[in-house]
Amino acid sequence: MANLWSEAEAAGKDEMALLVYQSRLIGADASLVVWGGGNTSIKRQVKDFRGREAAAMTVKGSGSDLKTIQPKDFPSLRLEDVLPLMERDSMSDDEMIAYLAQCLLDPKAPRPSIETLLHAFLPYHSVVHSHADAIVALTNTKESDAVLREVYGNRAAVVEYLRPGFALSKLVGQRVRENPEVDGVVLVNHGLFTWGDSAKEAYDRHVDMVSRAEERSTHRARGRRVFTPAPGLALEKPERRRVAAALAPALRGLVSRGQVMTLRYDDGPDVLEFVNSGEAAALSQVGPATPDHTLQTKIKPLWVEAAGPLDASRLAQGLKAAVDRYVSEYSAWYRANTDGGHPMLDPHPRVVLIPGLGMWSTGKDARAALIAGDVYHHTISVIKAAEAVGSYASLSDKDAYDVEYWPMELYKLTLAPPERELSRRVALITGAAHGIGRAVSLRLAAEGAHVVVTDVDLDGASALAQQINDAHGYARAKALRMDVTNPEEVAAAFHSLRLAYGGLDILVSNAGVAPVGAIHELSLASWQRAMDVNATGHFLVAREAVKLMREQGMGGSLVFVGTKNVPAPGRDFGAYSASKAAEAQLARVLAIENGERGIRVNVVNPDAVFQDSNLWSTELKEQRARAHGVSVEGLEDFYRQRNLLKERVTGEDVAEAVVFLAGPRSSKTTGAMLPVDAGVTDAFPR
Ligand code: ZN
Repeated sequence: MANLWSEAEAAGKDEMALLVYQSRLIGADASLVVWGGGNTSIKRQVKDFRGREAAAMTVKGSGSDLKTIQPKDFPSLRLEDVLPLMERDSMSDDEMIAYLAQCLLDPKAPRPSIETLLHAFLPYHSVVHSHADAIVALTNTKESDAVLREVYGNRAAVVEYLRPGFALSKLVGQRVRENPEVDGVVLVNHGLFTWGDSAKEAYDRHVDMVSRAEERSTHRARGRRVFTPAPGLALEKPERRRVAAALAPALRGLVSRGQVMTLRYDDGPDVLEFVNSGEAAALSQVGPATPDHTLQTKIKPLWVEAAGPLDASRLAQGLKAAVDRYVSEYSAWYRANTDGGHPMLDPHPRVVLIPGLGMWSTGKDARAALIAGDVYHHTISVIKAAEAVGSYASLSDKDAYDVEYWPMELYKLTLAPPERELSRRVALITGAAHGIGRAVSLRLAAEGAHVVVTDVDLDGASALAQQINDAHGYARAKALRMDVTNPEEVAAAFHSLRLAYGGLDILVSNAGVAPVGAIHELSLASWQRAMDVNATGHFLVAREAVKLMREQGMGGSLVFVGTKNVPAPGRDFGAYSASKAAEAQLARVLAIENGERGIRVNVVNPDAVFQDSNLWSTELKEQRARAHGVSVEGLEDFYRQRNLLKERVTGEDVAEAVVFLAGPRSSKTTGAMLPVDAGVTDAFPR
């Protein structure tokens, strides 16, 4: 690996700034640490709250990420209080955390890393810890003792696997005191610690030791093929993705039987090289590389046996048996290792590997699925390097159990913010860039859903998706261009959605147009346009949505944005009223046809929602003002005065009704029509 330390960048930095600089260099390299892994520290003199000098250790706080770490993410602990722990025989995680909280110089600082004591017991100024793939590759081989001796001689102490905590910290502290000549400690199935008198020295040694590990595995791999391609599995990308998209909803349904999951499809070159190899069936089942890997990807991925030529319906048939087998094996592993201290966690896989297709990772949201997938890329990299050196080996079943059911990690889960009404769900909204569609998209996202925002105005949809992702996090929204009247664009959008999230729970069919004119003057083109968008458009989108939901087998909810004009049509609005009536009838038939599959279909009927609306063109406003005998400026007030509540109806009002019909609170309602019109007597549903 490259040494990225720059003397120019480091010049003039104080101890704390150098720690941040060094930490970010480590964090920026995904082959060293991923998603919050790894940690760094320095020991130094600081001033306490009364201005007295104190010997302290400043160490990474729990929950921060080295890549973006800032000074405030490093708590400082009083060494005078921490170091006497070296004399203790044992200490539980709870005791250790409670004790370390008492050692903080600033009681409001973040909780120090679980590996704090390990840093403290190394008597050096700067300490760096990573989970480098190259190091783990050497330790995760059956031949690791000999290999590590050959690579490091007596420059590194090798410490056998123990779950991070007091016992591991004390053991490492003792080993280093017994072998003061070493530059680092290699932790089996875990990673590397190095240190130095300066941040640069600790970093340089880290780079040096990781580079030696890399050289050992790449040197050995030269001229040797680690993964041998199995015949008949390599597909052209469009075909591979077509099959993957066809399979995704069935897979999502199966892995969501415990908790609803979001899926992420990945056919990166390293993934394909692995799953298309003759070795992957066996190697993927050996076990996780490190505790970090175990927490994100469980003990094993699901391996789905498949032989070419790949066919989606044939694969789908085998999928249920494969997931069932995974669940029963996971349950057996749980029963064999549990002491009854914690009920079984969700027994469904986090990573699914299918030869020819690639990998799906799963998570409670798109970010969690991304993390699981990213970690498995590193598992593949470790397996490949380990196989180049010898034979890949992993944590034992019992050690993997002790990590997945680590009380401290289970406690962390309880600290996560409570889930929202539509968390874990995926929604698609048509006509999302403006007006009602936009208000609905923002509200669904605020309630926890992933939203696929589609519109003919891709710029508008993209800006909305960006706004939602900024507010709610990675991939919570995805913008797609979709003209609802174009079957190819509708199919392409659903293809993207299947690969991005694995499926769909909610469709809000909203896109519409409102041509005006008395019927005796109306052009065929205007009539046709209304029918295309307001009737056929809903049909094309709903057809894809219902097809997907039936494959997925998880029910679903379709909400059609209708209009007050369905029950109460208006003069000069013939094309609009007739086409929207077709939409409403389409919704009712969908409710009849799909009730037994748990798919609910309802309609909201708004009236006169002007705000940010594309439907209400200047022409339409002028025309409706004329039809009602009022001025354009007075039109909104006219509509307000004609309703029973004398209220202005907003996009947010419609969004409230849509969220109700989309989610579990309306679970016994289908085929219904809900007015959001502030009360229009003529439009009472009957
Ligand atoms: Zn670690």
